[in-house]
Amino acid sequence: MDCIFCSIAQHKTDADIVFENDQVFVIKDINPKAKVHLLAIPKEHIVTFNDLTMDNFGVMSVLALAIKNVTEDFQIADSGYKVIANNGSNGGQAVPHLHLHILGGEPIRGVT
Ligand code: AMP
Ligand code: ZN
Repeated sequence: MDCIFCSIAQHKTDADIVFENDQVFVIKDINPKAKVHLLAIPKEHIVTFNDLTMDNFGVMSVLALAIKNVTEDFQIADSGYKVIANNGSNGGQAVPHLHLHILGGEPIRGVT
């Protein structure tokens, strides 16, 4: 399967990985839309929220704790940030592997 985020998860494609554990990783977005723009990504190939099941939904809490960790590292925890998931066509999802955008470091406008 040709998936850029699976390839990064398997360390076959380079990325700026700022956090990693056995289930998730966080990278710097290659085309940042804010001073701090990170992507929190499950290692398992889950496409959208539609593909969450009783067997894999636990990874969402691992992602939440990873986000807490990196927002502290990047010193945006206190100033605040947005967490956004684009799902499918109308959601504007370009990469079909679930990921949570973390946007901060400045006021985030123009997105919900
Ligand atoms: P989305 O529209 O939610 O699917 O957003 C995909 C995001 O992934 C965009 O913000 C891209 O800039 C980002 N992106 C795509 N490829 C890479 C990559 N190789 N490394 C880091 N970020 C990427
Ligand atoms: Zn994938």
